[in-house]
Parts: sequence; structure tokens; C-alpha cells
Amino acid sequence: MSAPQETLHLVGVGIGPANLSLAALLHGNDRVTKTFLDRKKTFEWHAGIMVPDAHMQVHFLKDLVTPVDPTNPFTFLAFAVEARRLYRLLITGRSRVPRREFEQYCRWAADRVDDVRFGVTVEGIQWDGSAFVVHTDDAPIRARNIVTGTGLVPQLPGCAQGHAPEQVFHASQLLDVPRDLSRRRVAVVGGGQSGAEIVHYLLGAEAGRPERIVWGSRRPNLFPLDDSPFVEEHYLPNYSRHFHGQPAARRDLLNEQQRMSSDGVSVDLLRAVYRRLYDLELLEGVERPCEVLVDHQLLRIDRERGGLLTTWRAGSGELVREQVDVVVCATGYRHGLPPVLDALRDRLPHPDELDVRADFSVTWDGPPENRIHVQNAARRHFGVADPNLSLLAWRSAVIANSLLGHRRYDVDAVSGAVTWSLAGERRPVGALGT
Ligand SMILES: Cc1cc2nc3c(=O)[nH]c(=O)nc-3n(C[C@H](O)[C@H](O)[C@H](O)COP(=O)(O)OP(=O)(O)OC[C@H]3O[C@@H](n4cnc5c(N)ncnc54)[C@H](O)[C@@H]3O)c2cc1C
Repeated sequence: MSAPQETLHLVGVGIGPANLSLAALLHGNDRVTKTFLDRKKTFEWHAGIMVPDAHMQVHFLKDLVTPVDPTNPFTFLAFAVEARRLYRLLITGRSRVPRREFEQYCRWAADRVDDVRFGVTVEGIQWDGSAFVVHTDDAPIRARNIVTGTGLVPQLPGCAQGHAPEQVFHASQLLDVPRDLSRRRVAVVGGGQSGAEIVHYLLGAEAGRPERIVWGSRRPNLFPLDDSPFVEEHYLPNYSRHFHGQPAARRDLLNEQQRMSSDGVSVDLLRAVYRRLYDLELLEGVERPCEVLVDHQLLRIDRERGGLLTTWRAGSGELVREQVDVVVCATGYRHGLPPVLDALRDRLPHPDELDVRADFSVTWDGPPENRIHVQNAARRHFGVADPNLSLLAWRSAVIANSLLGHRRYDVDAVSGAVTWSLAGERRPVGALGT
């Protein structure tokens, strides 16, 4: 391994929307020497589950930069204008664009923003006594600060582990390889947005529907995403700050109570699945195209000749068995220590539960001027908005200010209808000049 040369101000690991947002906010600032790295060859956004009809769950103005800097060159509007599609976009009346369009936008930004490098895998990060050493499959890089934006790790239930990957796999891998699921029996596990998107996709599969779909969720029903107005204020900087100031036990409780504002299924999608089931069953005469098993938890998957035997436990305690050929686990993602920080584990006070400060840097036992910032790894500290795109630009702006050592971006409280606490909160004025 060759010795690293110059020491950069910053290495960003991962170029998903989170670090792309930070790169966009630092674009053109030559005082901060930096590089952002991603193992993918080019920008891709959850490509393994990019089913054709998937739509964003947030407004397109909650893009990489607009909420903190609408004059930045990498706004969604700048993309739409450059792509000569703004008028048509407006005619569609969409505020939540297709996910493929958000990916196009991010790729457009990634092609233009400074200091991003694709096709480089970060293997680990160490501290050499005076700087971080970022080990990659190319040359190592020294840096004074690190920002991880490596996303979340797909989570399979215990009973789904150890099976043949073409038979049992995570939803995030659905489209990674060509799969012919026509005339197969498919179980989809999980009643969140991804589970619903996959069922919707399978029911409308152009190449042929599966012979049978079993859609199981341990939740008591398929619940909608709650994006009603006051609940939406959980996705404002004000609430994130307030949440960060609460004791850990209360934060955990609040995250649990607010789960359906992030883990539910968008109502439009629920309606689309419902209508598709209606049409298939009642208009086309397809017998039970999808068995919807709510309040059923997947317990076992056993290999048996000709397929897989899935065992589910209903809320009543009854066991239900379903024979299938394929199990798709839309069972979410694991939050916690980003794997690239594993080698620094001993230097963190609580490696399994990061201690994340208000500027998104983690407590570690190294020099305080050398910081490890984390993006999308602090749901426990900042609440349901942390893994979401709503506060993406704000979080990047907070990190940018911290790295720059001055208030380059205004990240103070914004106007909000809800008072989270009267104690010590400074309310912004309601209108400019008042
Ligand atoms: C299918 C799906 C749809 C979603 N839709 C929405 C939505 O509509 N609205 C919303 O608010 N939120 C949505 N989310 C939640 C969240 O906004 C996204 O997951 C978002 O992509 C998170 O961005 P990120 O940059 O943190 O991580 P990711 O987008 O996961 O990016 C992480 C990047 O890090 C790279 N990487 C990881 N490890 C390494 C390494 N060791 N070396 C180099 N590179 C590495 C990966 O290749 C990847 O490109 C969605 C999530 C999923 C899974």
C-alpha cells in the first residue's frame, strides 16, 4: 500500500443524495480541499428497486440545496430549465416527481459538481495520530475531517438468511439481475412503501404476472404515510433541533410514535394497488391475484421440493403456511454505525449507538478539531426526518457551516405553526421586515 500524500480538509464517503447535497453546497469553495468517493461507476439511486411507477414522497423543491440556498447552481429548478422541461413539468401538476426523475436530477448534479469521484470503494478509515487515513481500492487519502454518507444497510429477517439469493432476497436487489417471476409464486414480506411498490409492480408486470402473490405484513393493516400538515412539521429544522435536545428515552418513544409519518405507504400507491386488485379480480376474473395477509409475521422459510414453504404467525396466534418459489423481503434498513467506521470503533464511546452532536459530528476520543460527521445515521438523535430527504439540504448546511467554521448558510429555525417548546426557543419573524 502506497503512503498517502497531501492531507485534504475533507473526505466524503458515499455519494448518495446526502453527500451530493454537501458537495453542491461546498461547490466552488477552493479553500476546502475535498473529495467525495463512491464505489458505483456513476450516480445511481436505489437502482435495485427503481420500479417504473415509483414516485417521490417529498416535494421536488426539497432537493439537494433549495431549502437552504435557492441560488445554488444545483437546484431541481435549474435542472428542469437546463433540460428544457420546466413548463411541461408544471403542466403535469406534479409536486412529487417520479423517482427516476429525481435520479436524473442527481446524476445531472453529480456530473457537474466539484470533487466527486465514482468507482472508488472505501475499505476503511483509520486515525494515524495526526489525520484520518481513508483506505480505498485505489490510493489511500489523508483527511482532517470525514463525512460519511454511505446510506443504510438492507435488513433481512433472521429466517430469511442463508437461503439461495435467487430465491430469497432483499427488496433493494429486486432489479439488480434479470428475473422472470411470471408464473411463479412470490411472497412479498413487509407492508411499507417498498413492499407496496413491489406488489404494485408485480401485479402490473408487463412480462407476465406471477401465478400467485402473497403479501404479508406484521402490522395490523397496510397503513398510510401520515403527511398531514401538523405532522409534516416533524420534518422542519425546528423540530429536529428540539428533538435533539430531548433525553434518549424520550427520543426513542417519539420515534416510535411518529413511525407512520415515515414508514407508511403513500395513499396514492395504496389506492393504486387496491384498484389494480379490484380490476384483476372483479373485472378480469383472476382468482385472488394477491393474498393480503396483514397482522401476519413471517416465522420460517423451509426449502422443500419444488419451492419454499413459508410459515406465518397471525396476530391470533394461528400458523399459516404458504408455498412459494421466491421471497422478496421489503423489511427495511438497519440504522447504526456506518460500516466504514468499523476500524474507529474503539475510539467511539458507544460504537453501537453513536453519540451525535448538533452539528452531526460524532463524539470520539481524537482531537476535537478533527471531526467525523455522519449523514443519515442519526435517526435516534434527530428523529424521523434523518433518513428522509426533507432536511437533506439543511443537514448538509449545518455540516458545511461546521467544516467552514463560520455561518455560511442560515440554518436557524424557520417559520412553523407548532410550538415544540416555549422554553428558550427563538421564533423567527412571520414575514420579512416585520
Ligand atoms: C427505495 C427508496 C426510496 C426512497 N424514497 C424516498 C423519498 O421519496 N423521499 C424521501 O424523503 N426519502 C426517500 N428514501 C429515503 C432516503 O431519502 C434515501 O434512502 C436516500 O437515498 C438516502 O441518501 P444517502 O445519501 O444517505 O444514502 P444512499 O442513497 O444509500 O447512498 C449511499 C452511497 O454510498 C455509497 N457507499 C456505501 N458504502 C461505500 C463505501 N464503502 N465506499 C464507497 N461508497 C460507498 C453507495 O454506493 C451509495 O451510492 C428512500 C429510500 C429508499 C430505499
